[in-house]
Amino acid sequence: FPTTKEEVLQAVTENDVKFIRIQFTDTMGIIKSWAIPAEDLEGAFENGVMFDGSSIEGFTRIEESDMILMPDPTTFRILPWRPKEGAVARIIGDVYRPNGQPFEGDPRYVLKQAIAKAAEKGYTMNIGPECEFFLFKLGENGEPTTELTDVGGYFDFTPLDKAQDVRRAIDFALEDMGFKLEASHHEVAPSQHEINFRFGDVLTTCDNIVTFKYVVKSIAAHMGYYATFMPKPLFGENGSGMHSNQSLMKDGENAFFDPSTPDQLSATAKNYIAGLLTHIREFAAITNSTVNSYKRLVPGYEAPIYCTWSASNRSSLIRIPASRGKGTRVELRCPDPACNPYLAFAAMLCAGLDGVEKGMDAGPSTDVNIFKLTEEDRKERGIESMPGNLKEAIDLMAASEFVKEVLGDHVFENYIESKTAQWDEYKAQVHQWELDKYLGIL
Ligand code: GLN
Ligand code: MG
Ligand code: MG
Ligand code: MG
Repeated sequence: FPTTKEEVLQAVTENDVKFIRIQFTDTMGIIKSWAIPAEDLEGAFENGVMFDGSSIEGFTRIEESDMILMPDPTTFRILPWRPKEGAVARIIGDVYRPNGQPFEGDPRYVLKQAIAKAAEKGYTMNIGPECEFFLFKLGENGEPTTELTDVGGYFDFTPLDKAQDVRRAIDFALEDMGFKLEASHHEVAPSQHEINFRFGDVLTTCDNIVTFKYVVKSIAAHMGYYATFMPKPLFGENGSGMHSNQSLMKDGENAFFDPSTPDQLSATAKNYIAGLLTHIREFAAITNSTVNSYKRLVPGYEAPIYCTWSASNRSSLIRIPASRGKGTRVELRCPDPACNPYLAFAAMLCAGLDGVEKGMDAGPSTDVNIFKLTEEDRKERGIESMPGNLKEAIDLMAASEFVKEVLGDHVFENYIESKTAQWDEYKAQVHQWELDKYLGIL
């Protein structure tokens, strides 16, 4: 794939690319995008492209709404589901103010700040996300439904299902766009799938997560289905998570690996884990960003609730997968794919670094099934729970100097304001559950 401006312009000519969709995300992680004709791309590399930031979630006020998007040439990819002649490509950009200053409300900028902080200490971060999603039928008028497309379960091979074809088409499109797929399988719930791609540096991989969701949704729509990353679309079934595998590199080596310790985890790895455990409750509103996210974090569906780490146990919030050497990593299991990956990984990286900087102690690995412990037991062991709903998460975040520093004042304030509005709207609703429970007896 091209990486420089010159290479991109050459690829545009060679592949008969007619339009470029330039993209960024708002604070919620929703892709914002518009198309420019290919002949304008050279100018866009030089001067950026002006847009109106005033109606973008978490961006600016009306009176200072002019924003500039500078396309990042390394992110150029041709969209494989578009025609080969007169092709369409996408490119991700960084947001600037008209005076040339980076815009502090751009989630990609927030992540770049965290990356710079890590670099000061000699670290780079690698991540490997495991995105789960549901594939549902479209309604008569093309609207999303929760109607199942199959009744498969974990790793089931369902050759007769159309859904299998959709996942295969998604796999091919992703490979065309440069993704190295590692696993693509049916998940535990009916109509639920998971596609894993190879780990990489945190910025590229966050771009990939955004692209991944876009590809999955686009291909599904093309084939007459609806793909959703909503964390818990079906009551009584597993929800969709985005397990976040992460490691730090230093001097070209995996800083989490130490062959001389009994579990082959370095002191740095333990400190990093401690940092995640210390701060996770404060930044849960970022990794688990919707009202619906907290319907997933309940007992019985392989989703974490208690803030513990474990070498093996999947009931823990943090698990250490078995591979060692280059593959030594920490898997944080609470994030869900509805989050803004740039903000979520910025928070994870800074939390881990804080643990490393302060030499935080992760305590012993919790190798029992935490769900079987009594509340007393948990208290004795000092085991905390994830926030129970978005409101609790917002309150924890609002009181956190740590999160404020990670996000910067602009994103921090906008985020809390927007999430609080969502919560206030939700809490005033009369839900079906209440009618079912109370109407008949009260
Ligand atoms: N879907 C589960 C979750 O919500 C994870 C299941 C799995 O990958 N084993 O996190
Ligand atoms: Mg997995
Ligand atoms: Mg899974
Ligand atoms: Mg996993």
